[in-house]
Amino acid sequence: MKKKIFRSVLFSMLGIVIAAMALIIIVLNNHFISVEEDRMSVEASLAARGIEMNGEKFLKSIDTEDYRITWIDASGTVTYDSQADASQMESHKDREEFKEAISEGSGEAIRYSDTLGRETVYYALKLDDGTVIRISEDYDTVGLLTIRLASPMLWIFLAVFGLSIVLAGSLSTIIAKPINSIDLDHPLENKTYPEVTPLLMRIDQQNQQIEKQMDELHQRKKEFEAVTENMSEGLLLLNKDGGILTMNQSAKILFHMQENSHAKLTDMNEYREFVSSVLKGSSANLDLNVDGRNIKVIGNPIYSHKVLIGASILAYDNTRAHKEETMRREFTANVSHELKTPLQTIMGSAELLQNHLVKDDDCDTFYQKIHSESERMLTLIDDIIRLSQLDENTEADEKNLNISDTANEVRESLQQSADKKHISLQTELHDVHISANARLLYEIIYNLTDNAIHYTNENGTVRIRCYEENSQACVAVSDNGIGIPYESQDRIFERFYRVDKSHSKATGGTGLGLSIVKHAAEKCHGRITLISSPGKGSSFTVRFPLI
Ligand code: ADP
Repeated sequence: MKKKIFRSVLFSMLGIVIAAMALIIIVLNNHFISVEEDRMSVEASLAARGIEMNGEKFLKSIDTEDYRITWIDASGTVTYDSQADASQMESHKDREEFKEAISEGSGEAIRYSDTLGRETVYYALKLDDGTVIRISEDYDTVGLLTIRLASPMLWIFLAVFGLSIVLAGSLSTIIAKPINSIDLDHPLENKTYPEVTPLLMRIDQQNQQIEKQMDELHQRKKEFEAVTENMSEGLLLLNKDGGILTMNQSAKILFHMQENSHAKLTDMNEYREFVSSVLKGSSANLDLNVDGRNIKVIGNPIYSHKVLIGASILAYDNTRAHKEETMRREFTANVSHELKTPLQTIMGSAELLQNHLVKDDDCDTFYQKIHSESERMLTLIDDIIRLSQLDENTEADEKNLNISDTANEVRESLQQSADKKHISLQTELHDVHISANARLLYEIIYNLTDNAIHYTNENGTVRIRCYEENSQACVAVSDNGIGIPYESQDRIFERFYRVDKSHSKATGGTGLGLSIVKHAAEKCHGRITLISSPGKGSSFTVRFPLI
């Protein structure tokens, strides 16, 4: 703005100076012509007097170095010329000044000479005898006058130019100062030109509007942050190049990421491919393995006015569901396998019997096989049903139970099995009360004691103890049986895991007993631990919170 004012002032001043100079030259020129004409009229009058008294002799006697004098008779024929041979000259009857002098007594004319580049001023005066005396003098054209005045004019121009620069500079500073010092944050508090006031009022209105919009934006940002920061799912918003615009706390925790850097994620090929497919406009899902956890990632493109501007990525820890899904799949495969084996035995035996391929003496063995395999299947199905019931997460009815009472019931039920193997089934029971489901507690102690009897050789000892320890209610089932190899001790609670498959099957085991025990113990708020030495025996202890 300052520059513009400066230029405008400078050029205006220079324009005015140039125009003034041109006008002065024109005025000067006209002035010189009129002065010249006045002088020539006087000279012509004097010459006329001289001719009247002495005729041509007078003309020849005067010095005509600075001007030319011509005497023309009434017909236009030149009788004398101070600078040319009169006899050689053409008739002047058509000359403007001559005609005017004949008709009006005197006449003037200015003619331009291309050859001289100068103008000639003519003044003609009619004498009493009808002849005409004409005086002519060269006169500078405007161009010539300009050239003559060029040097002083240039100095004047330069002086004015310098002055204009100084003036334009200070003027532009003075004009721009109030505008430059306008406080745009408080436009109405400024004292400046009245012409600027409407603009300042408009700025004030816009400031208020912007402030309102900023408040709304802050409010929305706060709401957005409140929602996203309290989400358990991770949320990432990406721009159209895949860069992070925002990410919530859960996302940082899920992916172990630093503020606004998803370097850890972008290191993963699958993530990069996933983001590029989302940024091409299609929704996508991805299962990511981050430090052994299964993270489910869902991506959706974001459009604004039908133009893709980025993507939203939602992520959550799916490890548990993923693990359960894997376990379910393995469980289904195991169940199919476990059920298939006895079924095949039953079918094979039935086919042999149906086709009379079995000797009469062996028939009983085959019937027995069908019976025992069917029994095994039923046990297996019962265990599967128990496990899926436990999996269902339904709340079991709880009541105040004395563990010793349940342990006594179990002892009574299994006394016969123990007796069959000449195993001494001992109990050491103290009254300890817990809040639990009666059936589940019974199943826990029953399965542990049943296993102890199964995996203890004849004449062994199985002991059930109920006691209080470290403010916990404990039930321990120990035996001096075959024990469990150290490498298997972590796995025996897995479904269908058996240390010795043939031994387990021979004893009617399904490989689900300890899984049921672990599940049931958890449902009763308890925790199971195992101490076992191969060849020496095992001790399972379940600890419950006391009432
Ligand atoms: P199973 O029906 O085969 O007994 P469990 O889940 O009850 O299945 O037990 C898993 C495995 O743990 C068994 O196959 C057995 O090898 C081992 N086991 C369980 N209890 C004992 C025990 N008291 N002594 C030795 N091994 C045991």
